[in-house]
Amino acid sequence: MLIDDLVLVKPQTQRHLICLHTYRSSGITEIQPLRLATSKTNDARCLQADVMENEVASSAGPLAVRLMGDPVLRRHAAEVTEINGCVARTATNMVLTMYQAGGIGLAAPQVGIQQRFLVYDLQGGAGPQALINPEVIETDGEWAFAEACLSMPGLSFEIVRPKQIHLVGRGLDGNEVSIEADELLARLLQHELDHLDGVLAIDHLDREERKAALRTWSELTANPTSIRP
Ligand SMILES: [Zn+2]
Repeated sequence: MLIDDLVLVKPQTQRHLICLHTYRSSGITEIQPLRLATSKTNDARCLQADVMENEVASSAGPLAVRLMGDPVLRRHAAEVTEINGCVARTATNMVLTMYQAGGIGLAAPQVGIQQRFLVYDLQGGAGPQALINPEVIETDGEWAFAEACLSMPGLSFEIVRPKQIHLVGRGLDGNEVSIEADELLARLLQHELDHLDGVLAIDHLDREERKAALRTWSELTANPTSIRP
């Protein structure tokens, strides 16, 4: 997701604060903040791992974000079978990419890697987080919220999703994690999980809204300088 989402909730400062408070107290005690790798040395395992077909995963630095229309965004991503240095390096690069693009969440398919992991940072002080093979096991409530996406910059849509989720997965250390998330964090995670299943925010719109969004997207892509990142 884009950090625009934070801007969008700005007029409702109270709710925004509640979101961040909820995030801080949402029980994310089992995920260790991601330590950004600084080494520029290639990790040979990345080059050997057939799951990491994207060669960019072997070097340090921001990656190219795939935009709507790229087929990789429509594929179902595969489970990560081994949490190794390659996954960690890729997660680091994804965090750098997310920061550079002004985002608060990024899923692996958005940088061309068809694996089930994502990174996020709600900028509430906990630092960047990585989540591997995440799975929502429980949802509750309903919440309408405007979402933007790094893969369709320039667009945002109000989408109704569950307000709270209980999610399980693994951290970069391989340990199981369990997250009970509310509001913005729950929203962010659901958005990124959609990417792992080849689903984009636009798919949540009704037919007319979707048509209008596609029209706007086609105007934006006709003038690439208007698109970020
Ligand atoms: Zn997105």
